[in-house]
Amino acid sequence: MTTSQGALVLFSGGQDSATCAAWALSRYAKVETIGFDYGQRHAVELAVRPAVLQQLRRLDPEWDRRLGEDHMIDLSLISKISDTALTSNVEIAMQANGLPNTFVPGRNLLFMTVAATVAYRRGLDVLVGGMCETDFSGYPDCRNDTMQALQNALNLGMATQTRIETPLMWIDKAATWELARELGGEALVELIRTGTHTCYLGERGMLHEWGYGCGKCPACALRARGYQVFRGSPRDAITL
Ligand code: ZN
Repeated sequence: MTTSQGALVLFSGGQDSATCAAWALSRYAKVETIGFDYGQRHAVELAVRPAVLQQLRRLDPEWDRRLGEDHMIDLSLISKISDTALTSNVEIAMQANGLPNTFVPGRNLLFMTVAATVAYRRGLDVLVGGMCETDFSGYPDCRNDTMQALQNALNLGMATQTRIETPLMWIDKAATWELARELGGEALVELIRTGTHTCYLGERGMLHEWGYGCGKCPACALRARGYQVFRGSPRDAITL
């Protein structure tokens, strides 16, 4: 347990942020969550959020005591000021600049900044996000340098001593499953497998061994590969 006043977890309803929520609940006496509605093509992630939070409460009475308010913030302005495959109905593809067109420029900067504003109001001094350099699509706003620079900017701009914690920054998807097992055993792995949603296409019709999803989009591919490695498949012999 740390002496922190409490943590605000960026919680989307996906595998990474659910693992981050469990991580925060195992460390901080007070944990709140924040989610953003920004006109995602498929609102499935947002729809599963309350159920995942409920299940986290049921997993551990201590987590139930620690888990406080959930803040849902309307950031629909994102879909008005950017044009990406996450918010409009275009095919997911790589762009000339080497980034996939699922990249929403500055999204995580905006999320963290809004989260910092809410944390200020709620008296919370830790922001927890699932950003990851190791196993992600190369989004520049997921990098550790970006998050450290943003932490400095927020603290300068708000006269606070807020910490941005990114427990998944240096681990891959297989290790993210492993972390879930360390935090909450197979029960948490099962909660994340069946309760969370990651698929870019919003597909939730079929339960695979790694969870629900289309099985083909980049988010499903990463999640499936990570799960198979977590369950013991060699890293170079994975098929979906
Ligand atoms: Zn998918």
